[in-house]
Amino acid sequence: MHTVYFLLGANLGDRAATLQRALEAIQIDLGPVLLQSSLYETAAWGVTEQPAFLNQVLKVLSVFPAEEMLEKTQAIENRLGRVRREKWGSRVIDIDLLYVDETVLNSEKLTVPHPFLHERRFTLVPLSEIAPAFEHPVFHKTNRQLLAECPDKSDVRKWVP
Ligand code: AMP
Repeated sequence: MHTVYFLLGANLGDRAATLQRALEAIQIDLGPVLLQSSLYETAAWGVTEQPAFLNQVLKVLSVFPAEEMLEKTQAIENRLGRVRREKWGSRVIDIDLLYVDETVLNSEKLTVPHPFLHERRFTLVPLSEIAPAFEHPVFHKTNRQLLAECPDKSDVRKWVP
């Protein structure tokens, strides 16, 4: 059994409804959602001329190996109508694997922990809400520490419908 943290992001259409559909699909296809963070709104990162993102982190229990989890979340992205256009561009739904247990993995398809996790407040803020004391297996720092030390100063606020 694996404990996995996913980052969900949406910035097109009914963002909150899409995140809810992604959560339900993850429960069915991967396993039970043990914890879910609040929804956070973040100005788009990388390309700024696009709508703001809603982000959420989920803690999930799953029997599948990491690469199979990625295949399943990519299938969910496709089902929920993701249109791949430009890197950093707008998307109906994006699902990233942040951590899989204490696994450190670098394959062609998958890097775990996620390579930019520690650089982005929109990841660290929701992650620290539900897993403040979990330790990054490469940096050996907790999510709370990574957030405190993160140079990214972008505005990440709790989203109220
Ligand atoms: P993106 O378009 O930004 O969602 O990037 C998706 C690509 O990143 C896919 O081709 C994945 O194989 C690759 N990838 C590498 N590591 C990860 C990860 N930890 N979570 C999600 N996608 C990953």
